[in-house]
Amino acid sequence: LPGTPKTVLILGGTREASRLARLLDTKENLRVITSLAGRTRTPETVAGECRVGGFGGIDGLVSYLREQRIDLLVDATHPFAGTISSNAEHAARQSGTRLMVFRLPPWKQVDGDVWRSVASLDEARAAIPPSSRVLLALGHQHIAGFAEHRDVHFVIRMVDPPDEPLPFQASEIILGKPGDLSAEEQLLRSRSIDHLVCRNSGGSASYAKIEAARKLSIPVIMIERPPVSSETVFTSIDELAACIY
Ligand code: NAP
Repeated sequence: LPGTPKTVLILGGTREASRLARLLDTKENLRVITSLAGRTRTPETVAGECRVGGFGGIDGLVSYLREQRIDLLVDATHPFAGTISSNAEHAARQSGTRLMVFRLPPWKQVDGDVWRSVASLDEARAAIPPSSRVLLALGHQHIAGFAEHRDVHFVIRMVDPPDEPLPFQASEIILGKPGDLSAEEQLLRSRSIDHLVCRNSGGSASYAKIEAARKLSIPVIMIERPPVSSETVFTSIDELAACIY
């Protein structure tokens, strides 16, 4: 097809980005590069080529797009990874690179959910009642501010162990990724959790904790997403992939 891209750069770090790389890597006329920030110590392998680490802001990304002769840039990063998404938009415009954006649709409250929707980490912090027992399901770089609640017991889930001791008064760290419904229910029950703090990531990978909270009538302090500024946003990887080849 005329205009078919030859080299695709996927800004990844999500399950969906990896799935897109797998789909596109089967195409013979495409070179597929996935870019990871390098946040997790042992990232899962992705199909095609992979590069790791920041680009050095908008200018660095523009240089990379030019050097690697990228025909298409796909932003399939996490919905809360706002800096890289904004950089991608600017760099695509500056370099004249075609940009496609993928975002999982946000979760919606259903019957039985007890959500308090908030707009930011600060609001989430303020919404935690005194002396509660909270499962903090946020990226490790977002948890430090919660330590100001000295009377709250936090159970903190993270993928890798922290480099330094956490500043929390009372806390337990659970290493690993989210589990299925029964594992999440067991976690909430065994720690007598009475509040869950998380971000509205969308998708199935981390939804079981929301279902478990619903089952146990545990209130969820849900941090909603920042608005997306791009005009065209795909919500299906298959539809996005179909537009590429
Ligand atoms: P962020 O605040 O938007 O990005 C901070 C900086 O990290 C960016 O300015 C960029 O550095 C670098 N960066 C981010 N994503 C990158 C990528 N895919 N490739 C190369 N450099 C990248 O992002 P964040 O919230 O720290 O998240 C970092 C990454 O983790 C994202 O790629 C995101 O998709 C992933 N993530 C995944 C999950 C998940 O549940 N799977 C959750 C959160 C985050 P430079 O300015 O130097 O280019």
